[in-house]
Amino acid sequence: MLEDKNKARTPLEKLGEFGLIDHLTKNFKINHPSSVKGIGDDAAVLDHSDKKTVLTTDLLVEGVHFDLSYMPLKHLGYKAVMVNLSDVYAMNAKATQITVSLAVSNRFPLEALEELYEGIALACKIYDVDLVGGDTTSSTKGMLISITALGEVAEADITYRSGAQANDLLVVTGDLGAAYMGFQVLEREKEVFKVNPNNQPDLSPYSYIVERQLKPEARRDIVHLLKKLGVKPTSMIDISDGLSSEILHLSKCSKVGCNLFEDKIPLDPTVITTCEEFKMDGTMVALSGGEDYELLFTIDQKDFDKIKGNPNLTVIGHMTEANEGNHLVTRANTKIPLTAQGWNSFTND
Ligand code: ADP
Ligand code: MG
Repeated sequence: MLEDKNKARTPLEKLGEFGLIDHLTKNFKINHPSSVKGIGDDAAVLDHSDKKTVLTTDLLVEGVHFDLSYMPLKHLGYKAVMVNLSDVYAMNAKATQITVSLAVSNRFPLEALEELYEGIALACKIYDVDLVGGDTTSSTKGMLISITALGEVAEADITYRSGAQANDLLVVTGDLGAAYMGFQVLEREKEVFKVNPNNQPDLSPYSYIVERQLKPEARRDIVHLLKKLGVKPTSMIDISDGLSSEILHLSKCSKVGCNLFEDKIPLDPTVITTCEEFKMDGTMVALSGGEDYELLFTIDQKDFDKIKGNPNLTVIGHMTEANEGNHLVTRANTKIPLTAQGWNSFTND
């Protein structure tokens, strides 16, 4: 799938390290006033003036976090940036800069890295962030990408995981479980492809969930929306590992408990039908699937009227005193303790 025999393949040795860095980054422009110096010196220089700086980093490893047999490199570059911006937005901050560090084996020609940087450039453009540095090196096997994102936020606006109070409402953005079901579909098609490489899969019925897996969007819009609505969440986190594990993070950091209502969990119709096809439970997928990159936050009950009816936001539960624990209230109205079934325990089933 990845290799296209007709494409040019320029070996990386031809450019050398500095030639490569220059080639990949020459079209990136610096836009933010806070980017005083970008690529080209020993370090970038930033000035977030009276704001606080937030900084977050993620490392993605081929074969562990991504599979190039179905992940186009352009999408990988885009997604690697989204994963980081999502963490910046979860602090209620504005993302302003990223750095990109790469390790690649000689299996990758220049054209592959160009595609990767196309995705990075698109993400920078759409989300208005400056690429201000990075590092480039070789690896003996496969590809590693580490992205660091920086952002700025007024101190009073920062949302930590630790601010939730008993009786606060628990709110989630968008819908859940789609990226995980997209992953299931792509894995299935990969197996089919191994048996019959001429078989062209028709993924159109799954386009929403496949897109959610391959091209997730970080919820910058929510940071703006909340500001517009005049709501400051009491706590916030982004959903990278699955709803249940993120709820438990908020509860633990905030020293509260939680009741989550199963019938409130937002699922796209495609997720529901694909779950039926794969004989999976939609609630389990939302709780444990991961990679949704939605935001999960708590608000004071008095702010409910401000968010009521907004199609981007769903109230899925409320926080309780810590000693009440963390529970899922099922459709049958029974209470089951929430556990952090991460990605791994889920896929090992
Ligand atoms: P150093 O030897 O100090 O690590 P480099 O030669 O690696 O410097 O980097 C030169 C410049 O290019 C620096 O500004 C660095 O941040 C930037 N840079 C290096 N690799 C990348 C990359 N993959 N993406 C973006 N910028 C990069
Ligand atoms: Mg370097």
